[in-house]
Amino acid sequence: MSFSASVLTLYPEMFPGALGLSLAGRALEAGTWSLEAIQIRDFATDRHRTVDDTPAGGGAGMVMRADVLASAIDHASPAGDPRPRLLMSPRGKPLTQARVRELAAGPGAVIVCGRFEGVDQRVIEARGLEEVSVGDFILSGGEPAALVLLDAVVRLLPGVMGNAVSGDEESFENGLLEHPHYTRPQEFEGRQIPEVLTSGNHKKIAAWRRAESERLTKERRPDLLAAHPLVK
Ligand code: SAH
Repeated sequence: MSFSASVLTLYPEMFPGALGLSLAGRALEAGTWSLEAIQIRDFATDRHRTVDDTPAGGGAGMVMRADVLASAIDHASPAGDPRPRLLMSPRGKPLTQARVRELAAGPGAVIVCGRFEGVDQRVIEARGLEEVSVGDFILSGGEPAALVLLDAVVRLLPGVMGNAVSGDEESFENGLLEHPHYTRPQEFEGRQIPEVLTSGNHKKIAAWRRAESERLTKERRPDLLAAHPLVK
């Protein structure tokens, strides 16, 4: 069974977007994963096809209605659908490579994209939506966040990345940031490729890369080291 993504959005034209190209696009064509973009507005019930309303308690902006969104979710993900239901949200748990791996190993995902000030809290509770954030900043809508999440998941699906090995050595996979990369030419604007990398000594190369990983992680992301006590 291939990974099945259903995205609920007010802008279905944004999909597959960037995911229609390159690795993800080829995998989509090959049927390694599938994507349906569902227009939330199709589930509005009034003449004006209203999906949002003013916030209870007052204040700026608009809030997505619980009833319209619930109908869209029930259509995309009827009772018994094994896929997790995600809501892209800056209040969510920050997305990690570990969660990405779990999702890639599962049957797919139902992804709700918010707009305006967000969605009515009651639909989050009533439909068991897992709030997922892609970082501590505010997007204008959940669509770019959904594209980010799906990109990260799809590249892990079997057969998508030509060279499967490169997946295991990347940043975060071992709790460290990755070492720097170099390629030809040997000299660029007076800068040389570090000598050890052209030495042919694989043990030394591995040790250099590990040391660089640790140095960069200590410098830039001490929080990662703290979270992985086994990495010194
Ligand atoms: N008023 C909200 C922000 C709403 S932004 C607040 O202050 O928390 C509108 C929509 O964009 C959200 O409903 C969510 O779906 C999406 N979004 C914005 N930033 C995001 C982020 N960092 N991660 C995931 N989704 C985000």
